[in-house]
Amino acid sequence: MFCRNCGNEIRENQEICLKCGVKPLSGGKYCQNCGVDVLPQQEICVKCGVRLAGGANISGRKMINPSTPPKNPIAAGILSVLILGVGHMYLGQVLKGVVLLIGGVILIISTGFLAAPVVWIVYFVDTYMIGEKLHSGKSVWEWEFF
Ligand SMILES: [Zn+2]
Ligand SMILES: [Zn+2]
Repeated sequence: MFCRNCGNEIRENQEICLKCGVKPLSGGKYCQNCGVDVLPQQEICVKCGVRLAGGANISGRKMINPSTPPKNPIAAGILSVLILGVGHMYLGQVLKGVVLLIGGVILIISTGFLAAPVVWIVYFVDTYMIGEKLHSGKSVWEWEFF
């Protein structure tokens, strides 16, 4: 079998992977059966068809999966600049969007609009990069940045 964290080949039932030092089934990056790259939230390996084991380290995290048709990263960025946080909500990071909306407004008002350009740029880049990940078929965590 293979370590689900680093893809190193290990003995069956080995407790700890000797290459990366973690419990082999606690990772989520490789199939334990054939060693092919998989996504952390993938349930079944599409190459060999086995059910992917473990993955305990990502449970409880709300993952956002790419939508079909994919969301537009540039639209997300522009939305984020027009109304802070809305670009994140559009991408599915709803809670993060709400927090960034409130946080961004407080930051901008409390600095007498001095922080506004920085907030806009950071929010644009963040939504654009999260949007790009989703656009390329990757899933993101609800609180993932950049
Ligand atoms: Zn390993
Ligand atoms: Zn496999």
